[in-house]
Amino acid sequence: MSDDNLSVSRRKRVNFIKGLLITVVIIMIITPTIVSIVAISGLKKLDSRITELDDKISKLELTYMLKAQADEALDELIGEKETHIIEQIEPAADEKTETIQTETVNENIKKVYLTFDDGPSSTTGRILDILDEHGIKATFFVTGYQAEKHPEWYKDIVDRGHTIGMHSYSHIYKDIYSSPESFFVDLDKLHDYIEKTTGVDTHYVRFPGGTSNNVSKVSVKDLCDMVHERGWEYYDWNISCKDATSPAPNADQIVSFTLTGIEQHSNCIVLMHDASDKQSTIEALPRIIEAVQAQKDTQFCSINDETEPVQHLLTGYDDED
Ligand code: ZN
Repeated sequence: MSDDNLSVSRRKRVNFIKGLLITVVIIMIITPTIVSIVAISGLKKLDSRITELDDKISKLELTYMLKAQADEALDELIGEKETHIIEQIEPAADEKTETIQTETVNENIKKVYLTFDDGPSSTTGRILDILDEHGIKATFFVTGYQAEKHPEWYKDIVDRGHTIGMHSYSHIYKDIYSSPESFFVDLDKLHDYIEKTTGVDTHYVRFPGGTSNNVSKVSVKDLCDMVHERGWEYYDWNISCKDATSPAPNADQIVSFTLTGIEQHSNCIVLMHDASDKQSTIEALPRIIEAVQAQKDTQFCSINDETEPVQHLLTGYDDED
């Protein structure tokens, strides 16, 4: 091989290597560029897709928010409607319950009204203490015996939560039962005294001797009608503790008479007396109260406008006051 041939061959090889190097360099430059371009393009597409998704998410969020607000508004509306419906239903339900309870009370509870005639007296305070000790209220049909000397005894009855009613100012049968006029002159005097002294405009009456008394010279029925014409009400009794009979019973007998009577009635109006000579009544009183309080479905009450009256003219009565 000549030198020229050798030189041509070497040049060819050098050129080939150069070409190869240039190609490699070009590939090394172009490839990342293409890759970058493709990547950038891809990123752009991705970015655009992300923006699109963001939009969708925002729209969805807005939709959810609107839906939540709508739900809330709907809940409020339903709540108001429910409250309104409940308000409409509840009073009716309460009324029904009340009716049922009232009926239950009327059917099952025995009411015992202790009533004290002829006071107040020096023993009124002791009676009031016993009633207080046992947490019960009673009714006092008072006279005017102590009106001048002891107005505080009348006031005490009212202040300690008991019912005060009219018995008679003078309690003198021959005077008060001589004519309707004298009957009401006496009763008005007592009524006005009670109102002035205690502040109570009482409309409860107990006839002296009861409406079954045989003493009156005038028709007791007429007197009863006149009492009603005034808007007043009168109450006799269906149980007597017999503390005004002669010979006077002892405490045991008073307890026995009273409890036997209470056993026999569902609406018990018990006649007792508030007088300084009725110490057996005072002795019997706590025993009567405790025995009744031990009975199921029995309660003590003071006379009020709901009290069912006992009236001898209608029911008849043999015992004496
Ligand atoms: Zn009397």
